[in-house]
Amino acid sequence: MALKVVEEWVNACAGCEISILNMGDALIDLFPQLDFVHIPMLMDHKHYGQLGEKDVMDIPEADVGIITGAVRNEEHKHVAEEMRKKCKTIIALGSCATHGGIPAQANMFQKQDILEEIYGNSKTTTPSDIPSQNVPPWLDRVYAVDEVIKVDILVPGCPPHPVCIQDVIKDLLEGKTEWKLPERSVCDTCPTIREKKAIAGVVKRCFENLAFNPEEGPDKMRCINEQGFFCMGPVTLAGCAGRTGVPRCIAARMPCRGCFGPIRKGANPMVDMMGAMTSIGLDAKTLADRRAMLNRFIGAHNMLRPLPARPPRR
Ligand code: SF4
Ligand code: SF4
Ligand code: SF4
Repeated sequence: MALKVVEEWVNACAGCEISILNMGDALIDLFPQLDFVHIPMLMDHKHYGQLGEKDVMDIPEADVGIITGAVRNEEHKHVAEEMRKKCKTIIALGSCATHGGIPAQANMFQKQDILEEIYGNSKTTTPSDIPSQNVPPWLDRVYAVDEVIKVDILVPGCPPHPVCIQDVIKDLLEGKTEWKLPERSVCDTCPTIREKKAIAGVVKRCFENLAFNPEEGPDKMRCINEQGFFCMGPVTLAGCAGRTGVPRCIAARMPCRGCFGPIRKGANPMVDMMGAMTSIGLDAKTLADRRAMLNRFIGAHNMLRPLPARPPRR
């Protein structure tokens, strides 16, 4: 019998859904064994009936529930709770769902300050009142899905790699309801040349190109951190290489931005990354926008919080 699947997006950008589609032929091969009964990205299925005629949320029962996106408002929370009630196995797909992702960068600021900035102070829009009717109220901060409901399988990545999604689905079809990437870093899977010493002490910004020869593979390129740029490979979970063996950004000659999140639960990539930079002679204090950069995808789970207000200068 086919595996019944429902999919929902909350505070998401649709990149994770594109990743499902990016399985390509593999998805077509899996289709006969999958029965997608609700997936807003692909099917016109409303929460309260097609004409809004129902007064309870209408998410069908399923074997597997996939949730993408972070939990920002009361409606997102309600969707996640309904998914948990209706689905035997819940997958949090993508780093917004597993770690808060980009939406959780908002956790650096007080909720009221963000609303005032958007509706009152934005230079690109006309100032207006903060909407309070017919919109779901925000929660106090942005949450990862597992802070709101029990999650069975976490698939990180922004977006997650189609090969990871494919592996999870294959495991589920074989009755395995546990899946986890091995605990190793992006550096562990990176072929670049390392000499354990940065060529400069100050962190360069990616306004200039890395040094590499486009005719040669990344195995002939010097490690990006050692070139003096900021690469989160040392503290980021490996898994984006798919079947190619080379991490996705490194293959594109770009630094890792940390999108798969920390290597293990409870790690503190901010502290670990500053240690990794120091060990090769890169001054972590010269990294622009340090708190945001070091927590770019992982601001839920209280990793990012508003800083206490500074006392006025005398
Ligand atoms: S994890 Fe990335 S791709 Fe997926 S919803 Fe969030 S921002 Fe979009
Ligand atoms: S820091 Fe970046 S470029 Fe250097 S080895 Fe790690 S992943 Fe590769
Ligand atoms: S190299 Fe880093 S940022 Fe790029 S896809 Fe892999 S984990 Fe994500």
